[in-house]
Amino acid sequence: MTSEIVTGDSGPELAALVAGGTVDVPDFPKPGIVFKDLMPLFSDGPAFRQVVDGILVHYGAGSFDVVAGVEARGFLVAAAIGYATGAGVVPIRKAGKLPRPAFSASYELEYGEATLEVHRDAFEAGQRVLVVDDVLATGGTAGAALDLVEQAGGIVAGFTVLMELAFLDGRKRLNPRPVHALLTV
Ligand code: AMP
Repeated sequence: MTSEIVTGDSGPELAALVAGGTVDVPDFPKPGIVFKDLMPLFSDGPAFRQVVDGILVHYGAGSFDVVAGVEARGFLVAAAIGYATGAGVVPIRKAGKLPRPAFSASYELEYGEATLEVHRDAFEAGQRVLVVDDVLATGGTAGAALDLVEQAGGIVAGFTVLMELAFLDGRKRLNPRPVHALLTV
């Protein structure tokens, strides 16, 4: 049991649900990093559904045309949102995985450096794109993902994560782009 107060952009109930489905893994993948493992949340059917429904309450029906998920855990949430709304799903992948011509964006991670890519023809011009990932840390990944959506002709309709690590200031880094986080820690 914990008496910790949990907060998030969709209220304390959903924040508590995400917190309850997360396991802190110290020193993974590097010493000093506390990895937020959301696998217990994903594997709990009713909790996962509530999380997806919570995101859809925040982004009302018709506010986006397509969902872009950031590799790899973002894919899980993006696919669920896509299925629930009938929107298509676009993967934003790590370098070298996409089979056709792609735009690339490099950035720094909390634990290293990386490059993300999206197919050049992933979006129709002006399509509104909801971008999804599991955790917002420094905001490098999200910044690159949102840049890629715009580079490929999409309009960012929103950026949503299950958990935000507020002490790493990712939200500030993405400003003025709005961030929706179900849990802020
Ligand atoms: P960042 O670019 O620093 O905002 O890092 C966010 C990306 O790295 C997301 O795709 C997360 O899945 C992953 N990530 C970064 N830090 C953590 C962490 N402490 N626990 C779990 N995932 C993380």
